[in-house]
This record gives sequence, structure tokens and C-alpha cells, in this order.
Amino acid sequence: MAQFSENSIDLPAGISNQWVSVDNDRRQATLTLPFAADIEAVNAQLNQHPGSSDYDWEVKVNIKKMPNSQPELPLTTGNVIVVSSGKGGVGKSSVSVALALGVQQLGARVGLLDADIYGPSIPTMLGRDDHELVINERNKMVPMERFGVQVNSLGYLVKDDDATIWRGPMASSALQQLYRDTQWQPLDYLIVDMPPGTGDIQLTMAQKLPVTAAVVVTTPQTVALRDAEKGIAMFDKLNIPLLGVLENMSFYECSQCGHQEAIFGSGGGANIAASHGVELLAQWPLTTAFRDSLDHERPLLIEQPEHDFSQLIKQTAAKIAARIYHQADKNV
Ligand code: ADP
Ligand code: MG
Repeated sequence: MAQFSENSIDLPAGISNQWVSVDNDRRQATLTLPFAADIEAVNAQLNQHPGSSDYDWEVKVNIKKMPNSQPELPLTTGNVIVVSSGKGGVGKSSVSVALALGVQQLGARVGLLDADIYGPSIPTMLGRDDHELVINERNKMVPMERFGVQVNSLGYLVKDDDATIWRGPMASSALQQLYRDTQWQPLDYLIVDMPPGTGDIQLTMAQKLPVTAAVVVTTPQTVALRDAEKGIAMFDKLNIPLLGVLENMSFYECSQCGHQEAIFGSGGGANIAASHGVELLAQWPLTTAFRDSLDHERPLLIEQPEHDFSQLIKQTAAKIAARIYHQADKNV
């Protein structure tokens, strides 16, 4: 099998020749992507691109672990992506759940850590196993398995009334413990649903995790945007690569007539992304289908994979996975 560099094929944008090996005699080629990706979409791209379309392609993923912001911290997982927002209620937990399932659907091994110890909502959105959280013989928590994702949350661990001890000044060590004392199976990505806000607590929390990259969630509303900017500043300060801004509830989409209305205003996410030189990763609509799926522990992506919103979730997840790789590549 010759290396691609000796057998030049013109590839679609975004696909590096380093990931390709070819057998020119048989016109066969293999692409091994270093990040989670929609293999069908990549295949379609290769088959439509004039330079690559006359090869018979095999596309695989072999996800690369990127460097993290705190190399001295013990790493028990793969790429750690923190999902953060300045303001509560903008859909941070909903986005975390959707992205975790999104990258899982793209063939990655995924964990989801509910770091919002003040208002853990992942157990409500994804439900729980039929048993309590198990502590194994090594004294580690066995994560709940939900739709193929390994999940842990303070909400699984203690009843709400007993959680106050976790939420005092020791909140950041509590998070570290939740991260470290979970027996994660090998992971490619760990999505972390951070508590809202950008104060000292959130800052310390972000410093207690070996973070690979961050995503900031906002709505287009002015109050949310102002807080999102503080989030961007926080990651800057911590030297954590910010992948971009995800604008949620960008517009309301009527399930009956499809009419779209920008009830929280429009253009806000794009503006702060542009003014901070980061990407607007996606604009997710406000829909009954998504809200309903979160309220009933039946994720839209799983229940209705063909739904436009499910497709959008998968595209956003693929974009984030690719951005992590390219971001790290840039820093080398
Ligand atoms: P946060 O974690 O930022 O506090 P949540 O994820 O809990 O926010 O979302 C707040 C509420 O908004 C939840 O009830 C959730 O179901 C709903 N929600 C979030 N995003 C959307 C959306 N795109 N469409 C419809 N409902 C949404
Ligand atoms: Mg939340």
C-alpha cells in the first residue's frame, strides 16, 4: 500500500492527505479520520469530488486525543469538552446532552459529566438505569449507561436534600472527585455540562479538569450575550481553546406551519462570535419536539434520527469534533 503523498489524489477540502493511503493498482483508498465524523457524509463528499470519486473508499475513524489545558492533572478520559454559559436557562444542559449523543452517533466512545452540581438536570433529561449508582470494588462510581453514553451526575449520587455538602466552598473539589472517582470506560470524548456563570467557582472548576476545549452556549438575547462574553473571557484567561459559540433558541419554529420567529432577537450570536474572532458553530431552533424529548427522557436524536433538528445536532457534533483536532493542530 503506497502512501498518498506519493500518489497524488485531489481531495475535498478539509481532508488531509496524511490520513489517506491508496492502492493505485486497484483504485482503492482508505481514509482514517482522527476525529468523530459523519462517515456517510464524508463518503458522499469523496464520491462527489472529481479528484477522489474514481477511487473505492473505505472511511474509518481513529480518534486522536488532543492536549489539555492542565497537563499536570491526571487524565482519566479522552478529549474533554466543557459546555458553558454565562446565564442559566439558555439550554446548556440540553445542548450537552444532544452533543454527547451526537458524537456517540458518529461512532465515538462518549461520556457525559454533569458538573452543574447546583442544578443537575442530566438525570431528568436522560433518566437512569433501573438501579442506584454502583460503587465498584476499587471504590469508584460506575457511570450510568444511557443510549450508549456513559453518564455521571451528582443527581444520581445523592438525594437533592443531601447535596448541600457538595455545594459549599468545596464545590470545585467535589467536581474533581466526580470526574476522577468515576470508572469511565475508555472514552474518545467527555462532554462536561458546567454550572452557569463565570465567577470564581466556575473558574476554579474549569481549572480542576484537564480541559481540551470549550463551547459557549447563548441565546440571541442581549442579557444572555453579555454573560456569554464573560464566558469567552474566562476561557481566554485559562488558555482553554474556545471552539466557538453555539446559539440556542435562535428562532421559534412552529411545528404546524413551519413559520419561524426570532423571539429572542437575531444576529447576537454571530456578533459576539465575530467580535471575539471565534466561530458561530450553529444556530439551533426553539422547537416543541426538542423540548418534549428532553422532558420525557426520549432524546430526539435517538427517537427521530431523520428529524431536521437531529441532523443539525449531528452536524454540529461533527463540526466540534473536527474543530478540536484542527485547533490542536494549529497550536503545535
Ligand atoms: P440550562 O442548562 O442552560 O439551565 P436547560 O438545558 O435546562 O438550560 O434548558 C432550559 C429549558 O429550555 C429546558 O426546559 C429545555 O427543555 C428547554 N430548551 C432548551 N433548548 C431548547 C430548544 N432548542 N428548544 C426547545 N426547548 C429548549
Ligand atoms: Mg443546566
